[in-house]
Amino acid sequence: MAIETINPATGEVVESYTPHTTDQVTAKIEAAQEAFQGWRHASFAQRARLMNKQADILENEADKYGRIISLEMGKPLKDSIAEIKKCASACRYYAQNAEGFMADEAVQSGASRSLIAFEPLGVVLAVMPWNFPFWQVYRFLAPALMAGNVGLLKHASNVPQCALAIEEIVKKAGFPDNVFQTLLIGSKEVNAVIEHPHVKAVTLTGSETAGSKVAEKAGQEIKKTVLELGGSDAFIVLDDADLEQAATVAVKSRMVNTGQSCIAAKRFILIESIADAFLEKFKAKMENLKTGNPLEEDVDYGPMARKDLAEELAQQVQESVKQGAEIVLDGGHEGKDSAYFKPMILKNVKPGMPAYDEEMFGPVAAVIVVQNEAEAIKVANDSRFGLGGAVWTQDKERGLRVARQVETGAMFVNAMVASSPEMPFGGIKKSGYGRELSYLGIREFVNQKSIWVG
Ligand code: NAP
Repeated sequence: MAIETINPATGEVVESYTPHTTDQVTAKIEAAQEAFQGWRHASFAQRARLMNKQADILENEADKYGRIISLEMGKPLKDSIAEIKKCASACRYYAQNAEGFMADEAVQSGASRSLIAFEPLGVVLAVMPWNFPFWQVYRFLAPALMAGNVGLLKHASNVPQCALAIEEIVKKAGFPDNVFQTLLIGSKEVNAVIEHPHVKAVTLTGSETAGSKVAEKAGQEIKKTVLELGGSDAFIVLDDADLEQAATVAVKSRMVNTGQSCIAAKRFILIESIADAFLEKFKAKMENLKTGNPLEEDVDYGPMARKDLAEELAQQVQESVKQGAEIVLDGGHEGKDSAYFKPMILKNVKPGMPAYDEEMFGPVAAVIVVQNEAEAIKVANDSRFGLGGAVWTQDKERGLRVARQVETGAMFVNAMVASSPEMPFGGIKKSGYGRELSYLGIREFVNQKSIWVG
């Protein structure tokens, strides 16, 4: 089956690519292994120089690459450009810090000298999603290459131009041949790549189903995995919150990337005494958002990335309403020939409804009203996911106390959940395991080696 760029704003097939054959994939894996033999010995200074060059290219050509993102998955252009620039920041962060993160750690023991050394593993496969088609890749690529590993990318099938553009940027920055290559393959071909003896580890960002399949195969092969999967982040508004600010950020956090973010706020847990006042502001701000062609200016949100995703979300809404959820803000899917979905707010959301139990990967906010802080924490934790979450209160100590009790990989007090190069990123429960970014991210795909000198 061809791998296609389909513009979600128009439905037009823009470009079609012939997938790589099995022989081509094998040749790329072998070329990656050969590249590793040289790259593992490159100095940190050399790696950093190329990584900074890559950051320059991303910054200087943010508009060009941003347009590819918007064309393939529908994100407003200003957000696509911001995404490209964020990738540059990750490149610079690891260019500056990787040597320190990978430095030997001396250990006190019974030896005359003992230490932990961090050594690259080799070829790492990255299976990536379309929602942040550059950022998701760079948060793997920058630490992996700085650690001395080499990368193979199997990107989501709807963003082949992004995948090829990233390969082109690495080449333009002057990295040695084949340290980072794109495989144009479908998901069925991933198992064979994992099986190849040269491939040492796999990182996957995507759905629970894909994560579980890839981890199953990697488990059979005894290969390390990092899984960054779905989320249903709670956005808790306590009774002493600044409601105006909370409502402004709530809209941003639900609508980021047209709602298609793993760390978007999805379940809005409101203390009863402020619920109506918050909802009034939240609804008014959601109603004010402008949609349109993502390549035009002044667009707050674009279409969803594919028509089938909008259809799936509509079904989750329909089922939740059938079970008693109330529509506060009406919107929804514009019809089966469209990928556009107008924002919705549902209240009275209860266990058993898709809006409560499942990830709503699009612009639908689920509201759950609770009596007090303890119940808010209980509801926040009543999810199989554990990625991120936010709590709003004017008492920072109270915020911190609540943050410590929510079972997630990250909690934000009076701020929207977001990733940044300095802070580790990842989940618990069905949101996955392992961490990206920070010094923890670069150490996922290294041999943490004990060296004992008697
Ligand atoms: P997806 O359908 O799971 O796809 C993700 C990647 O996995 C794609 O490259 C896909 O390839 C591949 N894939 C799918 N099934 C596979 C299988 N059985 N074996 C091997 N590879 C397989 O997810 P998506 O729709 O692109 O992304 C949305 C999901 O990603 C949401 O659940 C979201 O929360 C999650 N996500 C998580 C994070 C995080 O950091 N935790 C960040 C972003 C997104 P094809 O495209 O060829 O099918």
